[in-house]
Amino acid sequence: MMASGCRLMRAIRVGEFGAPSVLKLCSDVPVPNPGLREVLIRVHACGVNPVETYIRAGTYSRKPSLPYTPGSDVSGVVEAVGQGVTALKAGDRVFTTATESGGYAEYAVATEHSVHTLPDALDFTQGAAIGVPYFTAYRALVHKAHAKAGETVLVHGASGGVGVAACQLSRALGLKVLGTAGTPEGMELVLNNGAHLCFNHREQDYTQRIMEATDGRGVDVIVEMLSNVNLSNDLQMLAYGGRVTVVGSRGPVEINTRDTMIKESSIVGVALFYATPEEKRECGAALYAGMEAGWLRPAVGRQYSLDTAAQAHHDIIQCPGAAGKLVLIM
Ligand code: NAP
Repeated sequence: MMASGCRLMRAIRVGEFGAPSVLKLCSDVPVPNPGLREVLIRVHACGVNPVETYIRAGTYSRKPSLPYTPGSDVSGVVEAVGQGVTALKAGDRVFTTATESGGYAEYAVATEHSVHTLPDALDFTQGAAIGVPYFTAYRALVHKAHAKAGETVLVHGASGGVGVAACQLSRALGLKVLGTAGTPEGMELVLNNGAHLCFNHREQDYTQRIMEATDGRGVDVIVEMLSNVNLSNDLQMLAYGGRVTVVGSRGPVEINTRDTMIKESSIVGVALFYATPEEKRECGAALYAGMEAGWLRPAVGRQYSLDTAAQAHHDIIQCPGAAGKLVLIM
């Protein structure tokens, strides 16, 4: 990827790690040129993921060199393709699972294998809600928990980006789907997106009600969005041979490891970063089938203009009550 040097665009630039205010809107950023096997996309929307806030804060294990533009999940229209690109052409509607130049911008360059065709049935805001959320949900459920049809899954934190994806995918895989959310609006969204039952994780006795819903047997798989709060209770809610997938965790937690012996249960970490090219291809094919069949339909929540990216970063961490995916609109 090279900068063209002549065309300029608006983009968010981060020149130092820190609070959301380090996300600066610049209007004189060179539009990048697509290099070998790269695609230049006119960005219409970009998903905001919690990991982008950890990276911006400088607290994440992997740090980009400064300055940089955040954002991996864009959707838009192919503007131009670099040498060696055969599967895509200018004018194609696409979404990405990674970008080279950053997605909080009017244009972004991505390598060909990170660019996927966006079906007409999905709009650009939905296209920006696929990448990290659905690929993570697939990794947790299929690659890590080895969830099988007929099993019961608890999507613990089902009202956000990954949660909605996990509910839709679980339902398509033939699981019994229990979800949680923290508000009535979030619960309704979860029930409309694949969950058979939904519980409020802010109510005191909700874990007891989850156990009652399984006739005391427990759940086979938990997709956990806030492990530092829930892991100990999760181990109580698992059935024999159950698996907790740690998708989200924002601090340490104390558990009694005897809880895993009693049920021969497993705690499995999930990191989308480690997905191999083969796993990504498999996941992409499964999700594309979901778009064709119609079960993969991202639920978009709050939308922000590019100049309010800092507000989006604040809200995704500080404002509870998720109701779908946060996206930036260009
Ligand atoms: P999001 O859209 O902000 O959603 C956060 C979810 O967590 C909401 O459903 C929220 O529900 C729920 N939540 C809040 N308090 C909870 C509690 N006490 N118990 C259970 N759930 C609770 O974020 P996201 O994009 O879905 O990501 C979720 C987490 O996974 C984040 O921590 C993110 O960093 C992580 N993640 C990890 C990977 C990986 O590779 N491991 C990939 C993607 C995401 P309410 O707002 O309704 O309370």
